[in-house]
Amino acid sequence: MTSYPQQLHYSSEQVVWQEVPDEVALAYTITGCPVGCKGCHSVDSWPIGSGLALTEDYLQERLAMYKGLITCVLFLGGEWQPEALIKHLKRVRAEGLETCLYTGYEDVSLRIREQLTYLKTGPWIAEMGGLDSPRTNQKFYDLRTKQLLNCKFLTGE
Ligand code: SF4
Repeated sequence: MTSYPQQLHYSSEQVVWQEVPDEVALAYTITGCPVGCKGCHSVDSWPIGSGLALTEDYLQERLAMYKGLITCVLFLGGEWQPEALIKHLKRVRAEGLETCLYTGYEDVSLRIREQLTYLKTGPWIAEMGGLDSPRTNQKFYDLRTKQLLNCKFLTGE
């Protein structure tokens, strides 16, 4: 059985404007993704425990630093370490920010969903494209309203 460290680890941290519609999000690419999509753009983030530890203290520090500048925190993965992810999601919400998870699975547990404002589901399938493709298999939900927000990603070509 695969064994993960207690902490989430991340390979990239950046502020993004397009990944979560109408939100300015601080995004973390969490390492150790077990989904294995063919053509994944983040293969370098697959090794378990690679990158830097996303400790509670570090996250709190970043939330304080970005206070008033961001409206959401986006986790690109991390559902494979549910306890650590849930702890971070609760902390983000306690700061009054929205939460978003991009998962390559078709769904996540109710315990994780309960801590999310937004959820993107589905693996990367090159022929179908990402959220900006009308043929995509991926789905982006606002879990407050259960609304599918894929239309917000279409560029209208
Ligand atoms: S879910 Fe995302 S990170 Fe994981 S293998 Fe698929 S594309 Fe890559």
